[in-house]
Amino acid sequence: MIVIKTPSEFQKWREKQSDKTIGFVPTMGYLHDGHLSLIKQAKTDNDRVVASIFVNPLQFGAGEDFTTYPRDLLRDRELAKEAGVDVLFLPDKKDMYPSPMASLIRITQGIDTLCGKNRPGHFDGVATVVMKLFQIVQPNSAYFGLKDAQQVAVIERMVKDYFVPIEIVRVPTVREADGLAKSSRNVHLTDAERRQASAIYRTLSEIKEHVMSGKETIMNLELAGKKKVEEETKSSVDYFTIRHFPSLDPVEQINEAKESELIIACAVAFSEVRLIDNIIFKL
Ligand code: AMP
Repeated sequence: MIVIKTPSEFQKWREKQSDKTIGFVPTMGYLHDGHLSLIKQAKTDNDRVVASIFVNPLQFGAGEDFTTYPRDLLRDRELAKEAGVDVLFLPDKKDMYPSPMASLIRITQGIDTLCGKNRPGHFDGVATVVMKLFQIVQPNSAYFGLKDAQQVAVIERMVKDYFVPIEIVRVPTVREADGLAKSSRNVHLTDAERRQASAIYRTLSEIKEHVMSGKETIMNLELAGKKKVEEETKSSVDYFTIRHFPSLDPVEQINEAKESELIIACAVAFSEVRLIDNIIFKL
């Protein structure tokens, strides 16, 4: 595995790969099985796999966990190498964001709900860094986890809007044995919170069954899901929301949703960390 730290060094490597297909896995590091499943898929589909690690300051709001976000570069390098990454790209802040910044991607659709509503500017930060990484890496395909479903929706739309010739590949969520979605942030749960956190996926699955049976209104199911997760995690729920996917438009009537996919998404604020999860399904 080659480790590259600057965009110009990366571009030199990239010029020599003209006859190869490149799969790209952008991450913020502290790698776990979720990231590894993206890498595995990228390896299956491409001649070369590039993974990046960059904790992107632009996507963290004031008071969010940028400084405490878990980091362990030595371990990440080992895991990336074992997983078969060809190039690990580790850009630094001064290369990614020369000061002063002169441009920014602004997301205008699909952010009035879920994390977009609770984290103003977050998806502008995500889109900006992903576009910068796409321009440097120039992959054929890029791999994104459905655990961050709104991120997938935003990136798919951005790629379409800007005619970016990169295929976006959606990868299913990897979970712990009790259903909790794997996340770098899970290390910041207390032992009690870790046990309680399994209620998130359990409740998403239960509410999905109720949506499928069609007997309750969407609003009642959102309220019931929120109440249940709050009771079982003893933490506050930022949102428990049912929408169309990937448009994230509201679902007025369950019947109207027969053709499209629905998402049930939830965010929970634990004492030190905010976790998100979702289920995407067809009726
Ligand atoms: P992050 O390092 O958290 O920014 O995540 C990097 C990529 O890994 C994103 O595309 C995430 O959606 C994806 N990812 C994170 N956790 C999981 C998971 N449990 N299962 C599948 N993909 C994941």
